Amino acid sequence: MHIDENAGFGTKAIHAGQSPDPATGAICTPIYQTSTYVQKSPGVIVGEYDYSRAANPTRTALEANLAALEGGRHGLVYSSGVAATGAVLHLLKAGDHVVLCDDVYGGTNRIFHRVFQQLGIDITLVDMTDHDATKAAMRDNTKLMWIETPTNPTLKVIDIAAMAEIAKTKNAMVAVDNTFCSPYLQNPLQHGADIVCHSLTKYLGGHSDGIGGALIVNDDEIHKNLKFIQLSEGAVPGIQECFLFLRSTKTLHVRMDRHCENAAKVAAYLEAHDKVERVIYPGLPSHPQHAIAAKQMRGFGGMVTIYLKGGLGESRKMLETVKIFALAESLGGVESLIEHPAIMTHASVPADQRAKLGIADNLVRLSVGIEDVNDLIADLETAIG
Ligand SMILES: *Cc1c(COP(=O)(O)O)cnc(C)c1O
Repeated sequence: MHIDENAGFGTKAIHAGQSPDPATGAICTPIYQTSTYVQKSPGVIVGEYDYSRAANPTRTALEANLAALEGGRHGLVYSSGVAATGAVLHLLKAGDHVVLCDDVYGGTNRIFHRVFQQLGIDITLVDMTDHDATKAAMRDNTKLMWIETPTNPTLKVIDIAAMAEIAKTKNAMVAVDNTFCSPYLQNPLQHGADIVCHSLTKYLGGHSDGIGGALIVNDDEIHKNLKFIQLSEGAVPGIQECFLFLRSTKTLHVRMDRHCENAAKVAAYLEAHDKVERVIYPGLPSHPQHAIAAKQMRGFGGMVTIYLKGGLGESRKMLETVKIFALAESLGGVESLIEHPAIMTHASVPADQRAKLGIADNLVRLSVGIEDVNDLIADLETAIG
């Protein structure tokens, strides 16, 4: 179905990339569970498809849907968020330099430092809330700037437009990991990014039942190169996963509204609590980059990070006592999750880097779900009290 570019987000979420099946009228894009496609004569294909690693109709619908939600021309999907990250890094070659935001998803840190650094990619970590430090980190051979905002787990907000301006002085590509916001809250391409990266596993999937990743780009040349890498490496999602993600994006806007609403209430409750040392939530006026968040995000998201008064003992007690919040890694699902980054999601970040970033023993990360917020607050009250 052709969806007007000016259509609202909800309309695009439900319709973009999809039309009723021409053969049957099925309103949902079918699961085209096929690896290959019959040809009319050697090399003459029936439609657009010859082999499902290259392309598959269910996947094409998902890629078009995600592109529309980010306001980009091209979408590509992968078997995981880190597979999408790896595809971007494969655009580089030995001797190239990357400027990487210092507080990123643990798996991002790992693939940059422990996989690609060994292949000859040079990496400089930088605190991108410090614009002068970022300028100083740029080199003549800097080919990529990788931004994550808000960062994980300390929820620093990075000014995408300002970073893109710095990157352009060296003609470096700008990639933004937009997983924490989802396309509903932030569209980095509008702020000068070249590539948007998502873990579909999180808000886009939203139901904690699938692993996937995506890249969205405007530039035809970057798309062509990424498409070649996708075909050559084959890190594509299964067809059933594509169907599940396509179903999930239809409710993204409704879910995100509730995530934001609940997280704002949980953050305000925790900020007033006498056993909590500090609450980090981009929507709180006390957040150091609250103004930048208000400028580039349409809502402040569902992630809340807190420093408890005390240390590991206090964190452990809270994490073991919660009943509705589930103690688990990951985020962005309908159910609320809670975790301890130093021991869990960020264990792969070297201890000295963790200390520098403030990933301390009393730091706890919450992914606020879409349950009734009074129940969530009551659960936290019992666990901290
Ligand atoms: C989870 C996550 C990833 C990696 O995604 P997977 O689907 O787990 O491979 C990347 N970036 C961020 C911000 C994430 O939260």
